[in-house]
Amino acid sequence: MNTFDIIGQSALINRLKIALESGRIVHSYIFAGLPGAGKRTLSNFFAKMLLCDGGSKPCNTCQSCSQVDSQNHPDLIRLTSQTKTIGVEPIRELRADIGIKPFQGSRKIYIIEKGDTMTPQAQNAFLKTLEEPPEYAVIIILADNLAGLLSTIVSRCQIIRIPGLSTRQVAEIIERKANISSEMALVFARLSEGLPGKGLDLALSQEYREMREESLKILEGLSKSSLVQAMGYIDYFLDNRDKAIEILDLMELWLRDALVLKQSSCQDIIINMDKLTYIKSLANNFTLSHIQCIIENIEDSKKMLMSHANFHLAIENLLMKIQGSGEYVRSSRSTV
Ligand SMILES: [Zn+2]
Repeated sequence: MNTFDIIGQSALINRLKIALESGRIVHSYIFAGLPGAGKRTLSNFFAKMLLCDGGSKPCNTCQSCSQVDSQNHPDLIRLTSQTKTIGVEPIRELRADIGIKPFQGSRKIYIIEKGDTMTPQAQNAFLKTLEEPPEYAVIIILADNLAGLLSTIVSRCQIIRIPGLSTRQVAEIIERKANISSEMALVFARLSEGLPGKGLDLALSQEYREMREESLKILEGLSKSSLVQAMGYIDYFLDNRDKAIEILDLMELWLRDALVLKQSSCQDIIINMDKLTYIKSLANNFTLSHIQCIIENIEDSKKMLMSHANFHLAIENLLMKIQGSGEYVRSSRSTV
C-alpha cells in the first residue's frame, strides 16, 4: 500500500494515530461511508497501523507491514461474502476463531466487509462477541449504510465516518492508480461525487468508456440527422438494453455540459473537458430551451423504462424529440 492510497484522508488517519499512540484503541469500530468512499483501503491502513512492529506506525518496512501489504498477515482476518447477505454461519466461524490468540503479535484484527448486509440473526449472533471481545481483538465493520445495522450493534462500536474527497484529490488517486492522463483523471473524478472507488471503477471500465463515446456520437448524430437516420440509433439501445439507463444518464451529462457552456463563461464546472469541441458543437446545434427540454424528456424516458413501459416505444419517442429539436435549429437558421 502506498501513501497515495490515503490521499485526502490525513485528518482521519491522524485521529486514528493519536488514538493508537495514546492507548485509546477500542475493540469495535464501524467504518461508515458510501460505496467507493475508501472504507476498505482505510480499514486496511488502520489494521496495518495496529499490527505494525516499527516505530512510526505503519513503518511500511517491518515483517508485519509487509504481510498486511501482501494480504497474508495471519492475524488480519477479512470476512468477505459473495452472497447478497451475510448469514449466521460465517459469524459463528468468526466467533470460534476469535477465541484463538494471535499468532504473531499482541493484536488480532477482524474486518467485516459489507457488514450492513449481515442478517438480523447474524447480527444478533455477533452481539455477544461485541459485548465481550477478547483483549487482543479489534473488530472493524465496514458499512455503506448504518441503518442496515441493529442499534444494539451500532451502540457498541466507535463510528468512523469516511468523508468524501475533493475532485482534485480523487483525480490524483485515479491518475496514479489507473495510469491515465491528468486530463482524463479529472473527467472521471468529476463524475465520482467525491468517491475515489467510484471514480476509479469508471476510469478502469472499458465498457463505460465505450458507452461514453457512443452516447456522445448519438447526440451529435441526432442534432444533425433526418428522422429516418435518427431511428437508426434505436438498434444501439436494443443491443444495450440492460445499460439503457446508464446511456441516458451519460446523454444527460453531455447536455448538462452544453447547458453550462451556453449559460456561463466559467468552463471550470464542465465535466467532460476532454470533449470540449464536441460540447461546443452540441451547444451550437440546440437552443437553450431545447436542451432543457431534452433533459426533461430523458428524465421522463428513464422513469418510463424503470416502470417497465414499452422499451422500443419509449426510446423511439425520445430519439424523435431530440432529432426534432436539432431540426428546429437547422430550419430556423436556413430561413434567416
Ligand atoms: Zn511496520
